[in-house]
Amino acid sequence: MSGVEHQIAIEVRDVVKRFGDHAAVNQVSFRVRQGEFISLLGPSGCGKTTLLRMLGGLEMPDQGTILLSGADVTRIPAYGRNTNMIFQQLALFPHMDVYKNIAYGLKMKGTSKGEIRKSVERVLELVQLPGFGTRKVSQLSGGQAQRIAIARALINQPQVLLLDEPLSALDAQLRLDMQRELKRIQRESGTTFIFVTHDQEEAMNVSDRIGVMRDGVMLQYGTPDEIYERPADRFVAKFIGDTNLLPSRVLGHEGDLTIVETAGEAITVHIGQGQQPSSLRDQGHISIRYEYVRIGSEAEGLRNRLTGVIRDVRYGGTMLRYTIEPDGVSEFPQLTAHVPHFPGKPRFSPGETVTIGWEPQDAVFFI
Ligand code: ATP
Repeated sequence: MSGVEHQIAIEVRDVVKRFGDHAAVNQVSFRVRQGEFISLLGPSGCGKTTLLRMLGGLEMPDQGTILLSGADVTRIPAYGRNTNMIFQQLALFPHMDVYKNIAYGLKMKGTSKGEIRKSVERVLELVQLPGFGTRKVSQLSGGQAQRIAIARALINQPQVLLLDEPLSALDAQLRLDMQRELKRIQRESGTTFIFVTHDQEEAMNVSDRIGVMRDGVMLQYGTPDEIYERPADRFVAKFIGDTNLLPSRVLGHEGDLTIVETAGEAITVHIGQGQQPSSLRDQGHISIRYEYVRIGSEAEGLRNRLTGVIRDVRYGGTMLRYTIEPDGVSEFPQLTAHVPHFPGKPRFSPGETVTIGWEPQDAVFFI
């Protein structure tokens, strides 16, 4: 086995899970490197929890293979795998103190008292709650309870920690703090984390790579940058951040770029990852993120240019949000541009005609 293969913590190959005749997870394949923080992201019901449960051995696939560190664990139940899972409801034992909660797993394994003490101290340090052993679970804040649940899950030094929306019950500020904490704990412990969330910002904040799911299918698996800048299709583009989607028609190709007609102009763009090279006259959409659209003098000299009329401008502190109607095309969607703003910078007013522009690498075409 090569060195690279050694570092693969998880490999999922063509996994399918059906409930009745509905495929909750449909032909999903991906690989996770040792020590990566992976998020499974998608709307409610897309199959992320089912996929996580299969990784943990709580659910058996109907088809496909799951490997942990190269070993086939597809048919091995949870207790036979070196994985651990944290659920949305933390399920700390309310009648035990923090120490006993954390020690529970090791005690069940018959580990010596001395070893247990050392391990509990180690994980309490890791989650930055040293000295909390004698606290009652009922005396913990939401964030502290969360950390104790993580400490309890890490005490067995699992190869992989599986987390099912563990932050969803926390308020917004605590949630942000805990995202940073999770990331720190993951880095310091070197454990591979698989994290389920339906919150795209949360996934972007914590992940090395993200698997975007919809209707049981993994539409794209990549780094936050790849997914944001090179979304595989319209769903991913819309689900991750805000974007303009403009109806377009293929005119031709130029190297790995595609020329399309958008609002009556020839526009040069990329093709979405995983899309087949398009045929001439194929109809689709181009996606341009709000903040990639330049207007006025900032658009001069850019390869792709349209003209349009400003219909609305909103002040957003660090940026202005312009709504622009491209010229000459009836029933064409309005475009949104987020333009960085600072005091004294001139603004455009509703009714003004402006040039709108972006570079080819800033737009993606999908059928
Ligand atoms: P959520 O964010 O709401 O938890 P999810 O993306 O985690 O959603 P899953 O819980 O994996 O989605 O569910 C995927 C699909 O499988 C859904 O349509 C769900 O109703 C169905 N499903 C999940 N578990 C079962 C089960 N035990 N029996 C029947 N159907 C199930």
